[in-house]
Amino acid sequence: MHLLNYLPSFSISIRGPFLNVSKNNALVSFGQEIARLQKVQGPSALSARGEMARLSRHLSSLPLLARHRINCLRTAIMRNMEVQNFAYAKQMLELLLSKAPPSKQDELRSLINMCVHRGLSNKSIDPLEDPSQFCAATLSRLSTIGYDVCDLCRAKFSALSAPGCIICGMGSIKRSDALTGPVPSPFG
Ligand SMILES: [Zn+2]
Repeated sequence: MHLLNYLPSFSISIRGPFLNVSKNNALVSFGQEIARLQKVQGPSALSARGEMARLSRHLSSLPLLARHRINCLRTAIMRNMEVQNFAYAKQMLELLLSKAPPSKQDELRSLINMCVHRGLSNKSIDPLEDPSQFCAATLSRLSTIGYDVCDLCRAKFSALSAPGCIICGMGSIKRSDALTGPVPSPFG
């Protein structure tokens, strides 16, 4: 499915915060891992597709500059429609629609209708998954029970033996319950 060809290209004004070190590193790591999985052939190809869909969900939860974020959303929509996560894809399409100029809205609406038509369920998403919760070192999902956070760049880790942050190289690692403060919205 060459969905990217159907997705409209448009730009919106950049209003997001700057791309900080940890977001930038995560963006590169996700990109490299998705590129690697794209080459997987044979019996493992199906699980590679599910993994690419999961990585793209985490990717699209990063608070990035608008132009990066739209590319991430498109990747997430394409990868998740491939593995029949139509409810998730519709949610992301609606997000794009809300930012799209009027000339591009019809195309997005027809993709949303396609998702509705295929049944609004997610074939391969754990209902408890929070796409904004991932380990910066392994790119795996984080446990909801608790995790480690860098006190400087706020990168999260599932279980890190290193005392310092491997993402920014400067912060130190604390348990999530030791930190307080507002949790950033994934769509902020
Ligand atoms: Zn850090």
